[in-house]
Amino acid sequence: MSNSPLVQARILSPNHSGRRNQEITKIAIHHAAGVINGRNLAGIFVPRSRRASANYNLGSDGVIVLGVDESNRAWTTSSSWCDNRAVTIEVGNSTRGPQWLVSDYVLNRLIDLVTDICRRNGIYPCTYTGGKDGVLQKHEWYKNTNCPGPYLGSKFPYIASEVNKRLRENKNVSNPTGGIYRVRKSWSDIKSQKGAFKNLENAKRCADRFGLKVFDANGKIVYPVGKTIDQLAREVISGKWGNGEERKRRLTQAGYDYYAVQRRVNSML
Ligand SMILES: [Zn+2]
Repeated sequence: MSNSPLVQARILSPNHSGRRNQEITKIAIHHAAGVINGRNLAGIFVPRSRRASANYNLGSDGVIVLGVDESNRAWTTSSSWCDNRAVTIEVGNSTRGPQWLVSDYVLNRLIDLVTDICRRNGIYPCTYTGGKDGVLQKHEWYKNTNCPGPYLGSKFPYIASEVNKRLRENKNVSNPTGGIYRVRKSWSDIKSQKGAFKNLENAKRCADRFGLKVFDANGKIVYPVGKTIDQLAREVISGKWGNGEERKRRLTQAGYDYYAVQRRVNSML
C-alpha cells in the first residue's frame, strides 16, 4: 500500500488504529468547517487530546498534507466500519457557514486526489449512490453532524463523474504504448532524456529537478503546461509574485508547486 504522490507535506497524527482491517473500497470526503491552510489543518490533529485525524488534509490553499498513512485506519468518520474501508480526506472551506463553500481550485485538487486514490487502489467506477453502498461516503450518514456541509455535499455526484472521466482518460493514454512519460529538453532531443516514468507525478518531479519537460508516448508535451520552474523562479526574483505567505498563496492558487519554485529561487540567488 502506498500514499498519494500528490502529497506536499507530511504532518502525521498519532490518532489512528494502526493497520486497517479491511481493503480500501471507499473514500470519505469531509469538510474542515473552517478556512484553513493544509499545514495548519493537519496540525489540528497532531495533539493526542484531539482524538481525531484524517488520512489526507487538503487545505483551503490547495496544499495536500498526509496526516495518517493510507494503510492505517484514521479516526475521521465516527465509524469503525467506514474508516476501516475508507481513505478519509478533510477539505478546507473558502467561506464559513451556513454555506461552507469550497473554492473551485480546491475542488479540482480534491478530484485529483480522489482520482489518484482510486487508481492506486483499483477502485473503478467511483460511485456516489447517496448511500453507504457507494464509494463516496458522507460523515452525516454516521453521525449527527453538518459534514460535509451543503455545498461540498451537493458536489458528490459531480466529483464521482469527474473522477471516472479522468480514470477512463488515463486508461486510454496508457493502453497503446504502455503510457511511459519521458523527461527531456525537447521530444527530438533524445540525448537530453533524464528519465522515463509510468507515473506522471514522478515524471513531473524529475522535470522540475532538471528544468526539463514531460512528454507522453506520442511526443506530446504534458508538463509543464504553464510556466517552467525556471521561468517562475525568475519571476519571483523580479518581484512578480510578492513575498512570504502572499507568494505561497498566489503560486499555489495558480496551480504551481510553491516549494519547488522556492527551492529554485534559493539555488539561483
Ligand atoms: Zn466530517
